[in-house]
Amino acid sequence: MKLRARKATAAIASVLTLSLAATACGSDDGDSGSGGDKIVIGIKFDQPGVGLKTKDGKYTGFDVDVATYVAKELGYDAKDIEWKQTPSAQRETMLANGDVEFITASYSITDKRKEKVDFAGPYFLAHQDLLIRNDETGITKAEDLNSKKLCSVTGSTSAQNVKDELAPKADLQTLGGYSECLTGLENKSVDALTTDDAILAGYASQPEHQGKFKLAGLKLSDENYGIGVKKGNSDLKGKINKALEKMKSDGSWEKFVQANFSKANYKYEPAPAIDAS
Ligand code: GLU
Repeated sequence: MKLRARKATAAIASVLTLSLAATACGSDDGDSGSGGDKIVIGIKFDQPGVGLKTKDGKYTGFDVDVATYVAKELGYDAKDIEWKQTPSAQRETMLANGDVEFITASYSITDKRKEKVDFAGPYFLAHQDLLIRNDETGITKAEDLNSKKLCSVTGSTSAQNVKDELAPKADLQTLGGYSECLTGLENKSVDALTTDDAILAGYASQPEHQGKFKLAGLKLSDENYGIGVKKGNSDLKGKINKALEKMKSDGSWEKFVQANFSKANYKYEPAPAIDAS
C-alpha cells in the first residue's frame, strides 16, 4: 500500500512538473520580448463607436473598452493586447482555430452560433435597424424592403433576418464589412444598409456623413452581444462573466457606453443581465 501511494505521489509530481514546464514554454510563444504575456483579441476594425482601427492605428469603441477591461481582469495590461480583425463571417472559425483568445465584436448570441462557440455575457443589447438616405420616404417598415436594394454583411444575423423573415424578396447584397455598404448608400446603388442600430448610429454621426443618412428607428430584432470563446472553454467563459459583472457594478459599463455612444446620439438600452449558466 505504502509503496503504491509513494509511487502515485511520484507520478503526480512528475505530471505536475511536466505541465508546469509546458505552461512556461507556452507563455513564451508569441511574446515578442516585452517580458509579459500577450493576448490576442478579436474586434471589428470598421465600426465607429463599436470597434474601430483609426487612421493613426489606434483602437477605439465600446467593444474595445469592454475587451480591454476584461483583459485587465484576466491579468493582461492594455499594452499586452494584440487586436485582430474578426469579420462577421469568420468569427466562429477564428475561435475554433485559436486565432484569437476571445471575440468582442458586436457578436450576437444565437442558438446556431452556440453549436460552434461559447459565449460569455450578454454585455449589451442592440436592435437591428436600417440606415437610409436623409431624403428617403419610401422605407418606413421592414416589408418596404421587399422592393428595395439592401446591403448587409455575410455571416451576420442582420442578413439572415432579412432573408428569413423581415423581407425575403429584398434585393440583398452581402459584403465583407458594413462600412463597404456606405458608398453604395451614398451613390444610390443601394437604398438601405441594415445591421444593429449601435453600429448604424456610429456611421451616421461620422463627420463625413453628417446630414446624409438617418436611422429608420425600427427595432427589428433583439441582438444580445456576447463575448465569444472557443467551444468548451468554460474556464475562460466563467472568468469573463466575472469580469463583466464587475464592469457593471463598478460603473465602468456606464462610463464606456457614454464615452462611445453619446456623441452618436444613440439611445442605448440598460445593461442586460449576464447569463451565469
Ligand atoms: N450583431 C449582429 C451579428 O452578430 C450584426 C453585427 C455583426 O455582424 O457584427 O451578426
